[in-house]
Amino acid sequence: MSATAATDRLAGIVENWEPVIGIEVHGQLRTASKMFCGCSTAYDGAAPNSHTCPVCLGLPGALPVINRRAVELVLATGAAIGARTPEHTRWDRKNYFYPDLPKGYQISQYDLPLAAAGELTIDTSDGPFTIRITRAHLEEDTAKLVHAPGPGGERISLVDFNRSGVPLMEIVTEPDVRSAEQARRYAEELQLLVRTIGASDADMERGQMRVEANVSLRRRGTEAFGTKVEVKNMNSFRSVERAINFEIERQAAALDAGEPLVQETRGWSDERGETYRMRVKETSDDYRYFPEPDLPPLRVDAAWLAEIRSALPELPAERRRRYGTLGLAQGVAGTIVANNDLVTAFEGALAARPELRPVDVGRWVTQEYAAASNTRIDRSQQGFVGNSTGQGLADLIAEQGKGTISLANAREVLSLHIETGTPTSAIIEQEGFRQISDAGALGEIVDEVIAANPGAVADVRAGKAQAIGFLVGAVMKETRGQANAAVVQAALRERLAAGG
Ligand code: ADP
Ligand code: MG
Ligand code: ZN
Repeated sequence: MSATAATDRLAGIVENWEPVIGIEVHGQLRTASKMFCGCSTAYDGAAPNSHTCPVCLGLPGALPVINRRAVELVLATGAAIGARTPEHTRWDRKNYFYPDLPKGYQISQYDLPLAAAGELTIDTSDGPFTIRITRAHLEEDTAKLVHAPGPGGERISLVDFNRSGVPLMEIVTEPDVRSAEQARRYAEELQLLVRTIGASDADMERGQMRVEANVSLRRRGTEAFGTKVEVKNMNSFRSVERAINFEIERQAAALDAGEPLVQETRGWSDERGETYRMRVKETSDDYRYFPEPDLPPLRVDAAWLAEIRSALPELPAERRRRYGTLGLAQGVAGTIVANNDLVTAFEGALAARPELRPVDVGRWVTQEYAAASNTRIDRSQQGFVGNSTGQGLADLIAEQGKGTISLANAREVLSLHIETGTPTSAIIEQEGFRQISDAGALGEIVDEVIAANPGAVADVRAGKAQAIGFLVGAVMKETRGQANAAVVQAALRERLAAGG
């Protein structure tokens, strides 16, 4: 079925049914060691169970010790979303049985989270939208089950404890979200925020950020919430949006048919494009939360909190606003701020040459970086900027602005600079990229090109405007891209008009 048909069907549904959505995000915190022991969190690519000790294996009698850095990262997140932190918080045991949890409980926070009552504002196609954040708390991650064929080909499950005890921050929203697009934008903005403050790398594909959506519908115009379904296992922003839209359609179809919904947890299958039942939902009563007897309550004094708050970097929302005051269009500012590599490039170039116009730098960063780095480097390894420097970019923008180098050559220089890190001024020198603007010198080449391309010349005279682009391109090729395109255009028009 076509995308527009699906969009139309969804539009029909939400005329009658209003989606009510709350989002829960788990983010692995960026700490060197685990939450309650000294084991390293750098287990990516390591042998299974090589980063373990009695504490994170959950052996009886092992005692946890609080990781101060993890607490600070949640406090910083709380400060960044305008949440409040109680003077005293504590740890609670969340009891449940699962093979990846040998202790039989997870150390978490129940009624006194480190941060409460914050908010995050997102930009959507309908303008800015503020989502209230109920809480952000700290807990430990579980081990990981690996399902694999056994020696005789039978299906067996193995447990890898490397992830066990890694600090996790859980951030829960109020049921304020009203569409799948808002949910996706919230997840993207939250990722950007925690990356910016260094709380988490939050890579969804690597499981460092896990998004769960609680979805229910209510008849438009009514207040009471409907039965909610929790959807898990979405490992990209796109799947967050798809899964929620699927769930809206599924629930609407059931409600329209008079079938009651059950409160349950459903998984998302990206291949099949549908959600499926995992389990009928447990309630918090089932977890028998109680205060953790092995850890003292946590006192957060005002001075510590103030220190954390003052160490916060510029947040994405403030940065977008500031770029707006520099004259950047909203879309350009948004594109730069969404990518910390582009922020580095933009800030670096302006710092190197404060006389540059921010809009020019913004254009280079958003338009030329992507194109240039695509051709030269492995972007997944090196990001957008590769080996480039703010100075290198600034010098190049200045040269191109002065007209000493053509845009085509400047692009070439940027590619080489991103790849090698060689100063752009040196590349311009080495490659002999001096823009040729001299009308006499270019005129000779223009004459040659006209003589060599009678077909295109006839097309131009017959009024085919695109044919002039072909002739400009031919001159560019003759001059290795060094010709001033505006001078070439003028020379061509003059000659073709005179000859016609
Ligand atoms: P649970 O105990 O099932 O985890 P919570 O009350 O903690 O439920 O809420 C979990 C998430 O579900 C929160 O983001 C909350 O805003 C959201 N939520 C609660 N009720 C609904 C509902 N009826 N529809 C959609 N989301 C809801
Ligand atoms: Mg929940
Ligand atoms: Zn350990």
